[in-house]
Amino acid sequence: MAVDSSLPSPLGPPACEKDAKALQFIEQTTRNAAGVQERVLAEILSRNAETEYLRRYKLGGATDRKSFKSKVPVITYEDLQPEIQRIANGDRSPILSAHPISEFLTSSGTSAGERKLMPTIQEELDRRQSLYNLLMPVMNLCVPGLDKGKGLYFLFVKSESKTPGGLLARPVLTSYYKSEHFKTRPYDPYNVYTSPNEAILCADSFQSMYTQMLCGLLERHQVLRLGAVFASGLLRAIRFLQLNWQQLAADIRTGTLNSKITDPELKECMERTLKPDSELAEFVAEQCGEENWEGIITRIWPNTKYLDVIVTGAMAQYIPTLDYYSGGLPMACTMYASSECYFGLNLNPMCKPSEVSYTIMPNMAYFEFLPYDPNSMGLDPTRLVDLVDVEVGREYELVISTYAGLYRYRVGDILRVTGFHNSAPQFHFVRRKNVLLSIDSDKTDEAELQLAVDNASKLVLEKLNASVVEYTSFADTKTIPGHYVIYWELLVKDSAEPPSSESLSQCCLAMEESLNSVYRQCRVADNSIGPLEIRVVKSGTFEELMDYAISRGASINQYKVPRCVNFTPIMELLDSRVVSKHFSPSLPHWTPERRR
Ligand code: AMP
Repeated sequence: MAVDSSLPSPLGPPACEKDAKALQFIEQTTRNAAGVQERVLAEILSRNAETEYLRRYKLGGATDRKSFKSKVPVITYEDLQPEIQRIANGDRSPILSAHPISEFLTSSGTSAGERKLMPTIQEELDRRQSLYNLLMPVMNLCVPGLDKGKGLYFLFVKSESKTPGGLLARPVLTSYYKSEHFKTRPYDPYNVYTSPNEAILCADSFQSMYTQMLCGLLERHQVLRLGAVFASGLLRAIRFLQLNWQQLAADIRTGTLNSKITDPELKECMERTLKPDSELAEFVAEQCGEENWEGIITRIWPNTKYLDVIVTGAMAQYIPTLDYYSGGLPMACTMYASSECYFGLNLNPMCKPSEVSYTIMPNMAYFEFLPYDPNSMGLDPTRLVDLVDVEVGREYELVISTYAGLYRYRVGDILRVTGFHNSAPQFHFVRRKNVLLSIDSDKTDEAELQLAVDNASKLVLEKLNASVVEYTSFADTKTIPGHYVIYWELLVKDSAEPPSSESLSQCCLAMEESLNSVYRQCRVADNSIGPLEIRVVKSGTFEELMDYAISRGASINQYKVPRCVNFTPIMELLDSRVVSKHFSPSLPHWTPERRR
């Protein structure tokens, strides 16, 4: 689309010529949302007309909305499993996309315990980059002077694997950081990071975090914004500082690098930067050595204007802790994206977290919205509405069709329309469907938790003549890293011989072994989830829980034990009935290779 950057931007006066172009692009694209969507759908359908998938639905070359909607079904990941598996096994024929599948992006959403594999094509990198390019121009409208300093961002690559057919499978951000788009990005004074590429690209998470923190400390006065992708990641960095500040201060004092940094490129790069600075070392030791870490972020990085971190959705649970460490700095949630597709951005990034709305960019994919009705049993595809037709105040499930070959694919996110920017709707992220527990990028649903409880019972408790009568769970984020807490009420056949503490710890581990690979990766590789805890409660506790719910108006006939709790009076009731606590004694198994 041709962009006239001489026009003033209704979003505000741009900081520079480059920003003017980006803001105009946002204006033009959102003004003509319906037209852009029509064009995007026509492009997707025409270029992929000869794919096996679209031929199956006999579109006969049609690229209009009506034919598409009447012929192509709305699907979930499970429906696409056979096609994905064939591509993973090496079938290079045009199954979903006319363009070759360049790699798989591994989603944090799982299917049968393993990360979902999202096919992608080379040009999608450009599309993702185009959304990234809009973020700073919008931010510059809200926070002036960001070209006068740097951003301290904790960014990481994660492990990758190969599918049986030889395609790479890795998280979308790993793919992006390793791309030329990121590695050789042009210099932009508004977007300079303290972390060198060598640190971000180091696969060893300790070395990567250590050197990123070290660079952040060395340039503490230059840091104007501080962030990570998700809130949990930023808190992990704070925890890392708590555990490692002595060594970091020692490196700064002597100007010599911790011997644990062994990656040759990273080592060389850091040795070029690190010079002895006893004053800074003393400052770091003084601040970090204090018992009270309230406001530590602004004490160490006094010029920080905001935290750049997602605190919407499951991450909202970390807002109070971030407030504590940052002394109440604003938190900017800048974008909404996934492995399947990058969706949109927040045009008012300095708003309160509870008010964040994301504007979906109509050029990213073809978007449809399924009105969300928790009581409706079946899916009625005729009810899907187009991007420009959603109604303010209503909730919808997001359905996308992408250039990479997903057609009418249910993402699983529930969004509420809060308003429009021109004719593009803006959405509050309500939640992801079916997620019961989440600490970091893990998403555990009710069925997975049930299976974990069943497996632990089968493997450990049955032999001890005991069983789980009732259970519920809680994501405990009071400590860093957070961990899953499972409350168990037990039935012990021989009360003279209750299960030992050791066997209950084994139950914790058995549950962890049953949980999905994202959970286990967070536990093992990222250290972003702590050991699972079982709290055994007195017998009769869950009946009390029901009595409490009924006293508050729940119907006796319809009462179901909540499988996850976070309402304070219920937590207090449960905790007051705890008879013993047990933790997983070791790490569950995890390797980058998929189990199937
Ligand atoms: P993944 O496929 O692992 O990249 O995860 C993508 C999912 O993360 C999305 O479908 C959302 O459920 C969640 N997500 C991404 N961005 C945001 C955001 N800004 N706020 C809340 N949830 C988000």
